[in-house]
Amino acid sequence: MVKADGYGLGMEDVVRTLESEAPWGFGVATVEEGLRLRRAGVTIPVIVFSPVSPDSYDPAVAQDLTLTVSDLDSVERVAAAATRTGHIGRFHVEIDTGMGRSGFDWRRVAEWGPDLADRASPASVWEGCYTHFHSADLEDDGPTRAQWESFNSALKRLEPEKGSLIHSCNAAAAMRYPTFAADAVRPGIFLYGGCVGKGVAPPEEAARVRARVTLIRDVPESTTLGYGATYCSSGNERWATLGIGYGDGFPRVLGNRGNALLAGQKFPIIGRISMDMTVVDITGAGGVEVGDAATLIGTDGDGVITLDEVADLAGTISYEILTGFTARMPRIWITE
Ligand SMILES: *Cc1c(COP(=O)(O)O)cnc(C)c1O
Repeated sequence: MVKADGYGLGMEDVVRTLESEAPWGFGVATVEEGLRLRRAGVTIPVIVFSPVSPDSYDPAVAQDLTLTVSDLDSVERVAAAATRTGHIGRFHVEIDTGMGRSGFDWRRVAEWGPDLADRASPASVWEGCYTHFHSADLEDDGPTRAQWESFNSALKRLEPEKGSLIHSCNAAAAMRYPTFAADAVRPGIFLYGGCVGKGVAPPEEAARVRARVTLIRDVPESTTLGYGATYCSSGNERWATLGIGYGDGFPRVLGNRGNALLAGQKFPIIGRISMDMTVVDITGAGGVEVGDAATLIGTDGDGVITLDEVADLAGTISYEILTGFTARMPRIWITE
């Protein structure tokens, strides 16, 4: 899964990096993302995993993107786009087993199943079926097992026409329920360094977030800091200003709660985070200089601030932290 600009890391670079793993195909959320992959020279299958607006079918089919369908009207749209563009219209059928946001209801397969094959035209190909788990990262395996049962019960009623590729597992499910892997898995967050739940091997670090120390100030007692003056020095302190703020996607909620690493050591973020600047208290630390790189996510020497630790502190999930970084943050790829 390389949607949302490769989970914020940069879709084209992610794709180039993953190519050595020889994936079957790539998953995106929108037709625009799929077209971007085609422009980048990707020739393997690209599946668009969200429902898309009616006017997106023609460009998708024309560039050989595989659409996913959640209702019979969408099946007809794929067929019509195939006829109009002269390309093959490829689609996967999503079966909703509890996620609720999209997909055909697995309980009503007797109603939509027989119609589905009829609505497809010779110009369109039903290539696969899938479902999406809502709780594969939780310790309780009950909901995921129940969804798997529902999915298979619907698949059985669709025989023989259910497409050739069956898939269900996101990263958490691929790690925790390898027996549900079927024909393909759809890993996302684990590739980008996000944990997929307790008791599962942690991912390797994939991305670090760093910012330069742009100023160091020695301040006396009673120096206020930042909007709202929510921090005030309690004695002589040394403050380091970092060139990163919420305008870069660094969560503002980490003001007075988050940390930064400098020379492998952890220092607290003090005051509110501004759009362009963040301040850390480096009182007592020797050797920090203007121009040094502070690490806000990732390892630095013996120190580490994990992506999931930052997400927890910010009251959100690793996905939102990663996809939140804005275009102002340069993405620098280090290849070995
Ligand atoms: C985003 C997405 C995934 C990947 O989920 P992760 O939790 O990041 O592994 C898999 N399948 C679908 C349909 C998705 O939308």
